[in-house]
Amino acid sequence: MTKGKLGRLPANEYMQSADYDNVYVVGDLVWHLEGEKVVPQVVENALQTARTAAGNVIADLEDREKKKHASSLTLFSEESWRKCARS
Ligand SMILES: Cc1cc2nc3c(=O)[nH]c(=O)nc-3n(C[C@H](O)[C@H](O)[C@H](O)COP(=O)(O)OP(=O)(O)OC[C@H]3O[C@@H](n4cnc5c(N)ncnc54)[C@H](O)[C@@H]3O)c2cc1C
Repeated sequence: MTKGKLGRLPANEYMQSADYDNVYVVGDLVWHLEGEKVVPQVVENALQTARTAAGNVIADLEDREKKKHASSLTLFSEESWRKCARS
């Protein structure tokens, strides 16, 4: 399979591999850009990409429209950074 930076595997917004649309990539392994930032290798991202991929595997099986991945990482939110800066 095509390797992205740091040996991670490129995936589209549905977490499908760049090489095979019936292969999904999640967690630390996935190389996916959101805007200009790659999704980070943290637990929250592992859970969220897995949720996206699992939902889209089911959508594939049921011939429904797939959902795009959207991170909501509390660890890296502006508010979290502000709290860190204040403490
Ligand atoms: C020292 C350290 C500290 C960290 N601290 C934090 C933290 O404080 N907060 C945070 O959010 N993140 C932290 N992380 C990152 C976090 O652990 C990872 O982002 C997260 O575990 C990724 O989950 P994953 O399921 O993608 O991979 P993993 O948790 O690595 O799971 C992959 C699994 O696949 C198994 N596996 C590998 N190859 C094969 C194979 N060929 N066949 C079968 N099984 C295989 C492995 O044994 C492993 O169980 C830390 C990481 C490290 C290394």
